[in-house]
Order: sequence, then structure tokens, then C-alpha cells
Amino acid sequence: MRPTWLEIDLGALGRNCAHLAGRAPDAQLIAVVKADAYGHGAVRVARYLRERCGVRRFAVATSGEGAELRAAGIAEPVLLLGALHPDDAEGAARHGLTPTLVTLAAARAFAAARPGGRVQVKVDSGMGRVGVAPAELAGFMAAVEGLGLEVEAIYTHFAVADEDEAETRRQLAVFLEAARALPRRYPLHAANSAAILAGLGTGLDFVRPGVALYGLPPDMKEAPGLEPVLAWKARPTQVKRLPAGHGVGYGLSYRAGGEEWIATLPFGYADGFSRALSNRGWVRWRGGYAPVAGRVSMDQTTVRLPEPVGLDEVFEVVTPDLDERTGLTGRARALGTIHYELATALSRRLPRIYLGDG
Ligand SMILES: *Cc1c(COP(=O)(O)O)cnc(C)c1O
Repeated sequence: MRPTWLEIDLGALGRNCAHLAGRAPDAQLIAVVKADAYGHGAVRVARYLRERCGVRRFAVATSGEGAELRAAGIAEPVLLLGALHPDDAEGAARHGLTPTLVTLAAARAFAAARPGGRVQVKVDSGMGRVGVAPAELAGFMAAVEGLGLEVEAIYTHFAVADEDEAETRRQLAVFLEAARALPRRYPLHAANSAAILAGLGTGLDFVRPGVALYGLPPDMKEAPGLEPVLAWKARPTQVKRLPAGHGVGYGLSYRAGGEEWIATLPFGYADGFSRALSNRGWVRWRGGYAPVAGRVSMDQTTVRLPEPVGLDEVFEVVTPDLDERTGLTGRARALGTIHYELATALSRRLPRIYLGDG
């Protein structure tokens, strides 16, 4: 096996799922498993959530992601988030996915590919990215149903659920008013992870948790009741003492000092360990930290140690916690990004080991 791997704690995933379900007891969960379940592995995550958490609906971002779930035997409804492009209607239809419609062109293409097919309609309640304008919703619904399509639900998405409750309430009110103006009642949903934890939109028919399922706090701060699910580990492929002044890595941007050892770890930026961590990132080691020494290269990373270790030594590249140096959240903050980006950058070539699956 490759001497670097991800450990995914399915027990923690299940507890997060139960926690979120408890925050929206009257809603059904649509578990968001796009981007390979935020790097955690969509097939195993979806199967576990279905079998151990009673999840009956999933959501992905692309028809390719939906096809992967179908090939693995996930037969439950799969919502295609984002806005369907007419070019993708055939793919969505072929895999029995439920597309999100916001344009008539896409509605026509999908109706041709799958006559009578099930769809959802998205309303732009303020985010300005995709969605039908509230004032145009009634006309759009009539046109979609006129094509023979079955609208299974209407939804919207919040722009600032993690930071501005007043604006989120305003978006929710805009959405509900547009839905209420329709001639009949449709199932509705709005809440992402941040909104579920804030109790906004949790009284609707469905909720759509993503990042919180994986135990990552939506606001990058803290999320009581959630446990991070993923750890990344590695064993060194070589440990050596370099003479003082010896360079390390591309650009020789690090020079060995006196009493120190360099461990070479078998992962790099192609695995999702950002090159921006060169000479400033950390891995956890024996309860402390080992600093990245030199540039992160595509497949290898060098760290500095105060003493030699054997090739069996295990380094923790990502710890399942809020550690400011080695947790996904803390590292994202240090890099000026969000944990969503770091999680989804974890390469598919990293072996994934699933723990706690009975
Ligand atoms: C990704 C996504 C979600 C999940 O968001 P989280 O912040 O990860 O909970 C929900 N709804 C839509 C439309 C999304 O694109």
C-alpha cells in the first residue's frame, strides 16, 4: 500500500448525520456528496449514510458524480445541484438524476431527453448566482409543467448563512413569499449546513447538509456536536542527517542547520498538500509538530526533525480536529482559504481507509 493514506471515521460521520437530523427533526435530509463527498469518498459515504443514518436522498454537482453513485448501486433520488445546461440534459437523464432547472432552454432539453421526468426548480432569493427571479417563478413553473415535467421541489440557497442571520432571514422570506404565490404547494428547501446549525429554514421539507456531515464547522470557527471525520497520515520513505548548509528541495530554499534530520514524506501538492505550505506548513509528530523544510514538490514533502526516526514512524498530515496548524480548518485559515477547498483538493490517488463500518 502507498505509505500515505486517509483514514475516514464512518462512526463520526454517522454521529454528525444524527446531530444534523436532530436539528431539523421535521425535514428529510438530502446529503450533499458532491466533489467526492468533500474528498471523503462519495460511494462509501453515501452507502454508510443510507444504511446507518437512514438517508434517502443525495445531491451532487455533476452528472459524472451522479453516474458514479448509480454505478455503485445507489438507486435513491440524486439531485443535481447547480443549474442544468442543455448540453448536460442527456447525461442527467441517462443516469436518472433530478436536475435543477433555472432556464427554459435546459427545461426543453431535459423534457426531450426524459419525457415526464422529475426536476427541481431553484429560486434566486438574493445570492445572484443561479436561480429564477422570484417575480418570474410562477411563469417559469407553468412553462416547465407545460413541458410535461414533474416539479418535485423548489429550493433556494443562502449566501451568508454562516455570518449574517438577518440577511439569511430576508432571503428565506423572499423565497417563501415566491413559493406562496404559486397556485399549489410544492415541497421546499433552503438550508445548507450553516443554516441547519443556525436553525434557519429547518422547518421546510428538506435540508441539504454538506460540510457539517464531515464534521467541519461551516463558519470556520467551531461547531459543537460535530466531529471531524478525516485524518491524513504518512510514513517517511527516507530519514537522513544532512551536513549543515546542505540544501533541501527545489530551489534549495531551505538549508540544513546543525543538529537536525530531514524526513521525506511521500506526498506532495498533487495529493492536495498545497505548495503554499513550503517552508511554512506543519505536520503533527509525536504529539508535537514537524515543520515543512524546503519546497513542497508534486509527490514529496520534506520535514525537519530533532532526531532520527524509522520508516515505520507515522506522521499526521491532517489531524481530525481544529488544530490551527494541522486541522483542515486551521490550515485553511493559515493559507487564506476555506476548509472546503482543502478537503476537495485531496487527490483521488490517496488511498482511503474506512474505519468503524461494523
Ligand atoms: C454545496 C451545496 C450545499 C451544501 O453546503 P454546505 O455548506 O457544505 O452544507 C447545499 N446546497 C447547495 C445548493 C450547494 O451547492
